[in-house]
Amino acid sequence: MKQSNSVLLIYTGGTIGMYKTNKGSLKPFDLDTLSTQIPELNTFDVDINAISIAQPIDSSNMSKEVWIQLAEIIEKEYNNYNGFVILHGSDTMAYTASALSFMLENLNKPVILTGAQLPIGVRRTDAKENIITSIEIAAKGNIPEVCVYFEYRLMRGNRCTKANAEHFEAFKSPNFVYLAEAGLDIKYSPIKYSHTHKDLKVHTNLCEDVLILKLFPSMKKEYIASVLNFSYKGIVLETFGAGNATTTGWFLKSVQSAVRNKKLILNISQCISGSVSQGLYETSSKLEELGVISGKDMTSEAALTKMMFLLGGDYSLKEIKHRLQISLRGELSN
Ligand code: ASP
Repeated sequence: MKQSNSVLLIYTGGTIGMYKTNKGSLKPFDLDTLSTQIPELNTFDVDINAISIAQPIDSSNMSKEVWIQLAEIIEKEYNNYNGFVILHGSDTMAYTASALSFMLENLNKPVILTGAQLPIGVRRTDAKENIITSIEIAAKGNIPEVCVYFEYRLMRGNRCTKANAEHFEAFKSPNFVYLAEAGLDIKYSPIKYSHTHKDLKVHTNLCEDVLILKLFPSMKKEYIASVLNFSYKGIVLETFGAGNATTTGWFLKSVQSAVRNKKLILNISQCISGSVSQGLYETSSKLEELGVISGKDMTSEAALTKMMFLLGGDYSLKEIKHRLQISLRGELSN
């Protein structure tokens, strides 16, 4: 059934899925009573349908199985809606948004993840505004991307990160402009999106042989050397500043043997904003020489899920190395 102005809400769990009852307890909200919880939805000229994943979860329990469920729901319902809104816990929202951005190739409609710091029914809840504006943007259907909407800002999903555990403004997009900001009106950034007429292609093969290693001063050789040479396929190495790491012999030797064993090492900065620039300092030139790949200005969430996506695909090692360094879904600045 083709609807004119329609949005599918997909509920996965988290604070946004809770409401505070008159007696003060928190309960998961019933999707059938959504418009009772948020009466403002009745003023919309939009058909809103809501479904839930099989087993709603706190997003700290997020897994690739749920990402696949979400991608498959969107694939099945793609032609029936103008856009999709995913209600998700904020803790791992940036991972889900990044993963979906890679899994949904040729996406030509908005997929907006949103959440809340306070449940519906709590006096100062942010849930209502986040849901209402996400639906409004999704219904318009003009942004062909996986996005995150939180506290008046629409962000590219694979560019944002959770930066605050308490404030309503929980997410930042440190290396990319906001796609829209909601004030009296919703102001869209003048970004040229690449709309496509190709069919949506959903990738569900994600490789889990990946990990993140954050460097720190005074790392112990036994631990780090064994992690670097453990049986994974790709590692996101979170380095200092513009992509710098210790030049201690044992560390560089461990990196060298990992690369020789065909492991992918992707260099991401621990800094919240800015980019890796291998070769700027001697402490990153060595990594470049050894074959470590620059992740440029990607977030850790985007870097990890991009590796999962590429390693799960049918690419040669050379192709994966190349694709890691170019923008596939707007996740890095070239
Ligand atoms: N722990 C919750 C979750 O991520 C927090 C939230 O909903 O924002 O599911």
